[in-house]
Amino acid sequence: MAIHRVKGTYDVLPGESYLWQALENKIRTILGLYNMREIRTPIIEYSEVFHRQTELSDMVTKETYDFDDRGERRLTLRPEGTAGVIRSYVEHKMYASQELEKVYYIGPHFRYERPQKGRYREFYQFGVEAIGALDPALDAEMIILSYDFIKRLGLKGVRVRLNTLGDESSRTAYQEALKTHFTPHQDTMCEDCRQRLVKNPLRILDCKVDAKHPAMTSAPKTIDVLNDDSKAYFKQVLDHLNAAKISYEIAHKMVRGLDYYSHTVFEIEADIEGFGAQNVLGGGGRYQQMVAELGGPDLGGIGFAFGMERLLMALEAEHVTIADIQTVDVFVIVFKEADRTLATKLLYELRGADLVCDMNYTKKAFKGQLKQALKLGAKYLVILGEDEMSRGVVSIKNTKTEVQEEVLLKQVKRYLVDHLGAEQ
Ligand code: AMP
Repeated sequence: MAIHRVKGTYDVLPGESYLWQALENKIRTILGLYNMREIRTPIIEYSEVFHRQTELSDMVTKETYDFDDRGERRLTLRPEGTAGVIRSYVEHKMYASQELEKVYYIGPHFRYERPQKGRYREFYQFGVEAIGALDPALDAEMIILSYDFIKRLGLKGVRVRLNTLGDESSRTAYQEALKTHFTPHQDTMCEDCRQRLVKNPLRILDCKVDAKHPAMTSAPKTIDVLNDDSKAYFKQVLDHLNAAKISYEIAHKMVRGLDYYSHTVFEIEADIEGFGAQNVLGGGGRYQQMVAELGGPDLGGIGFAFGMERLLMALEAEHVTIADIQTVDVFVIVFKEADRTLATKLLYELRGADLVCDMNYTKKAFKGQLKQALKLGAKYLVILGEDEMSRGVVSIKNTKTEVQEEVLLKQVKRYLVDHLGAEQ
């Protein structure tokens, strides 16, 4: 039986990887503007990093890849980026500098979900965490950054939606308000929601089964139960967004899929044809308890993550080009077996001048070599023809203009550097 890739995973093929690289480059450049530095944490962590008592989201309770290693340690493949970053922040006492730590990560994450378009079991996220400050200007910066990122990518039809869950006491009050509201309806709600009603009523709001339940529409909004401090905090976040003229919508019942959020939560949605329910490109929010829960001081942070497959799908759907297909500058065509060593020497020399070049290694005849060169998008052909070689020259052909010239062997590099330089 042929061996297939694991369900819910995919290969990035050589013809596609340039898009991933371009996206990563954009991410690094844009995040750099916000003074973010990269952090690289392991993909595997001890399970307790993610399986914390307070975290009851489906993602953590039902979708993680947990296993024992050979030393019988309980490990988990990271389903999200924040907890590992906070584990590292605490372990390395990054808080000791008393500066805000602004970091980003790019890498694979794992969730045992039902695979479908835009939803995989191994998927890439890039995310940002700003840890060590509780400041509405920082919440606004995270939202502005998400908005800016999408704009700079060239995606249109994108909406920023945000909400606040308020501080701990507002959040508790909201849980209570939801409990009171949903309890009379529990008989008509799904089994999971009946459980959520007891354990964590907030989670009812993002139940997919009960999404159209009439009690959902009439459910209280977070804003209804916010205390004054939390209201003031949220107002300041909005003031900063308004000052920067960022357009946004307030989504009064958005709670996001994880249990660690408080205060500001936000999502970036795209109206992209064919996306269906997978229209959320990214999102995030503030967390005030996690640093302490993972053994650190009482400091909060805020972060967000974007799904990279979805970003690439969105770019494709909107016909936005972020990179050109990789092509070669020069392809060396060889007629005689004996001249192949010369070709090797020439390639090394040309690469020394930073030209992208290649030749044929499957011993194709002239026609086959030419076909290969054109398929690779070669800008110039260097032809080591029998007759030319005997005269110490080669033919160089510009594949676009079809102009062909004879060039002395020792001037090939100069000729190509000059001509390719002039083309740019
Ligand atoms: P979350 O960490 O759940 O807030 O997800 C943040 C973003 O990651 C989502 O908006 C998606 O773009 C992406 N994402 C989450 N889960 C998956 C998945 N299973 N497959 C692909 N992308 C995902």
